[in-house]
Amino acid sequence: MHQRMLKNAIGFLVLASGLGWLIRNIAARGKVSILVYHDPKPEVLHRHLQHLNRAYNIIPPSRYFEALKAKDFSTLPPRSLVMTFDDGHVGNAALVQVMHAHGVKGLIYLCSHIVDTQRGFWWQSAAAKNLGISELKKLTDADRLAKLAEYGFERDADQGTAAAVSLSQIKSLSQVFEFGSHTCYHPILTQCNDAACDEEIAASKRKLESLLNQPVLHFAFPNGNYGQREIAMIKAAGYETARTIDVGWNGALTDPFHLKVLEAADDATVWWLRAQLTGATTLFKNAVRYRRISLALQQGDNA
Ligand SMILES: [Zn+2]
Repeated sequence: MHQRMLKNAIGFLVLASGLGWLIRNIAARGKVSILVYHDPKPEVLHRHLQHLNRAYNIIPPSRYFEALKAKDFSTLPPRSLVMTFDDGHVGNAALVQVMHAHGVKGLIYLCSHIVDTQRGFWWQSAAAKNLGISELKKLTDADRLAKLAEYGFERDADQGTAAAVSLSQIKSLSQVFEFGSHTCYHPILTQCNDAACDEEIAASKRKLESLLNQPVLHFAFPNGNYGQREIAMIKAAGYETARTIDVGWNGALTDPFHLKVLEAADDATVWWLRAQLTGATTLFKNAVRYRRISLALQQGDNA
């Protein structure tokens, strides 16, 4: 059994390595890859960057956004890659040195009302773990907040420890990172009513701009959930781009409000990262999820 699993893993990795080459040179040719991290340890990111710096040209996010705005990628190097980090986890504060050592810059999408406070990320709370994070994501925003409150988590309550980076850490991070908005409190936007959705999008921009003392023009959807309403509100608030977690590569004509990504697991081995860079792992995960959903629906039909 173990042997078979190992064989499968090796086969997959061999495939991924060939696939990786093909994708970098064919599917991703002339396009920009955007990687998504959350809270990687510096030593893991160091190993990833050793590979990424060999296989790609990691460019500063602002350089990519300028080329995207001009709809002209002729100024970008081949196999351009942009590093993004979601949420603003306190662990990100330890990444300055490794980013600096590899000579690369990234972008952190911050939750404006959690950074520089001792508030918690709702999905990390004991309440969320008891209730089930994926179950909570299915509730309307008001119901989710009410349920969490019932189990002892208030989004504005001081948790006695910082889950997100502080302002002084952000200042230090600004040597190697740019910053965007990831809403105020990381709700599922598509579960918010209009007023709450607009508040999360617009107020986070205002708050971050006053905190950072610079324009905040880039947005990432919490949990990757969005629809036409969210995009309209993001445009109205004055953002220039929005990053999804939809898998794919970005060409010069890609809609700036539908930027596609490749997910990088925070603890990925370099081999797994290479597989993730093909997009195949996420597509596979989604296919499995889709299969489970259709099975569940069939069972529902039979019941
Ligand atoms: Zn997030």
